[in-house]
Amino acid sequence: MAKPNEVRGMSERVEYQCPKCSGTRFFIDVTQSADVDFLPGEEHEVYDVAGDVTWDKDSMACCAQCGEYKFLSAFATKADVGGQPSNAARPQRRRS
Ligand SMILES: [Zn+2]
Repeated sequence: MAKPNEVRGMSERVEYQCPKCSGTRFFIDVTQSADVDFLPGEEHEVYDVAGDVTWDKDSMACCAQCGEYKFLSAFATKADVGGQPSNAARPQRRRS
């Protein structure tokens, strides 16, 4: 009995894809916690950078292929992204 050809990668949709060039590789502005001591003047000391590197749909992303730069949500292939991204609604980078 003949087994149907398995289509790998084609049928499975990726989470984010560039609408312009169909690229799936992005440079994402990630968030990570840093232990920083601000010193007088414009000096500062970075003691540690720890924790997970995170990003979400409101992170800025740049398509590695064509350079399209926008919110990661704009590259989402799923239609569950509600509303228009705006600069005012950007999440705080600070984590407490
Ligand atoms: Zn692109």
